[in-house]
Amino acid sequence: MSTTIHLYNGNILRDPVNGTFTTDLTISNGIVVDTKAHGQEEAIQIDLSGSTAIPGLIDSHMHLIYCSTGLGIDLSGCTSETEFREKLTQGIEADTPWLLASGWTEEKVGSSPTMNWLPKCTKPVLCYRNDFHTAICNDALLSLLDVRELEKLPGGANLSEGIVKEDVLFHHVIPLIPKLTLKDKKSAVDRSISYLHAHGVTSVGTMEHLNEAIEVLAHVQADKQLRCFVMCLDEPDTRFISLLDSTKQDSFFKVIGVKTFLDGTLGSRSAKMYKPWLDDDSRGVWASHASNGQLSNWIAQVLKCDLAPVMHAIGDEAVGLALLELSSIPESVVARIEHGQCIAEKDMYRLKNRWFGVQPLHQVDDCCIAPVALGTQRSREMHNWRRMIDGGANLSFGSDWPIAPPHPLEAMQVSILNGLTPHEALVASTVNAGISLQDNAIGHLLHGAAGDVVVLDCNPLECNWKSTKPTVTMTIQAGKVVYEKEHI
Ligand SMILES: [Zn+2]
Repeated sequence: MSTTIHLYNGNILRDPVNGTFTTDLTISNGIVVDTKAHGQEEAIQIDLSGSTAIPGLIDSHMHLIYCSTGLGIDLSGCTSETEFREKLTQGIEADTPWLLASGWTEEKVGSSPTMNWLPKCTKPVLCYRNDFHTAICNDALLSLLDVRELEKLPGGANLSEGIVKEDVLFHHVIPLIPKLTLKDKKSAVDRSISYLHAHGVTSVGTMEHLNEAIEVLAHVQADKQLRCFVMCLDEPDTRFISLLDSTKQDSFFKVIGVKTFLDGTLGSRSAKMYKPWLDDDSRGVWASHASNGQLSNWIAQVLKCDLAPVMHAIGDEAVGLALLELSSIPESVVARIEHGQCIAEKDMYRLKNRWFGVQPLHQVDDCCIAPVALGTQRSREMHNWRRMIDGGANLSFGSDWPIAPPHPLEAMQVSILNGLTPHEALVASTVNAGISLQDNAIGHLLHGAAGDVVVLDCNPLECNWKSTKPTVTMTIQAGKVVYEKEHI
């Protein structure tokens, strides 16, 4: 079978940075090459019929295994307590040891859900808010926990009322959920990969526990289905380093960083702010290493492993701390601040050349919350990507799937409608996202690049994003067509 594919008669964006187009592209053994294979019998010929093709899109922040396997019942459509209860009650009979559900927000469901909203049942029930930083749990689940001890930890303050957040949720509740079999996890991830291909995504930065990433995503590497760049949620200890050393790594499976949480989220009012929320007495909470003064040590440990520190920071005080920490590490390390949603004016001078993983689709949810939680003036400092680029920051786009859907063209549209140029949005979804994942061969189609291509129904640098956005008609991963829209 041919390992060469030749795209011709197209409008092919080879270099998003310079905006250079070409009509033909040859991919041989999964890599872009300069030689034209048009007319060579052994090459698969694809006539683009004048369509625009761009480099495969990159989602630089998601939770691939988790969103494939752990979301449970979808509560995102519930607009009242009654609907919330009904949806959960329908799920009680399912043959699962726990009842899991996710997707609610106070704004949509009308008020904050409590334990009393949960159906009476003997199995543990856990219902995540759509940001996955807050969840409601029932008595059966509380009986598995040492509530008195956990109430002292970040996110545990209201545990006895069935509300669990942040560290307590991540480190003490989620690990108790019974695991799926490896076979079930793999087939769930396969379904997600097909979905990603349909949206033009060929590379992802994914936040995973190292053992699970190796166990589940290794088969993705073997089949060359999707390029997975892993940022680990584990502590970078010696066991971690030896596990990394024994793992084959290439651009289909590579561990590039370690992640920690500095704070929570806007929706849960747990993002760490310099000034209090307007509708809550607190200023948010420090999480994980930032809560116990260990952040600098953690960064040193990560750098010792030759990996990049990746810091979740949403509130302006948390972003300020992340920027302060980064000021003492070399710019050659692609350390990332994830989200960076609120940035105080006094910290703007530290942005130059720093890498931010941002999620434009979060703005769609947050713009309803921000005026109530922050007021007009502070809302302007939030999700302000124009200000960040003008301040010298490098942006790489992601979805944070399952928190927002992995639809990069929609994310680009939101960013463009909020002040970025189409060129800046495209660079943030291609070349910049590639650099932030420490792979310079993705995000463009120059000689030697990864042979990942997305064919669109219109040119993203020329279309009118106010009224339309391009749709994906074909996705090519490493020189192989992995998605084709029907009737193109
Ligand atoms: Zn995330």
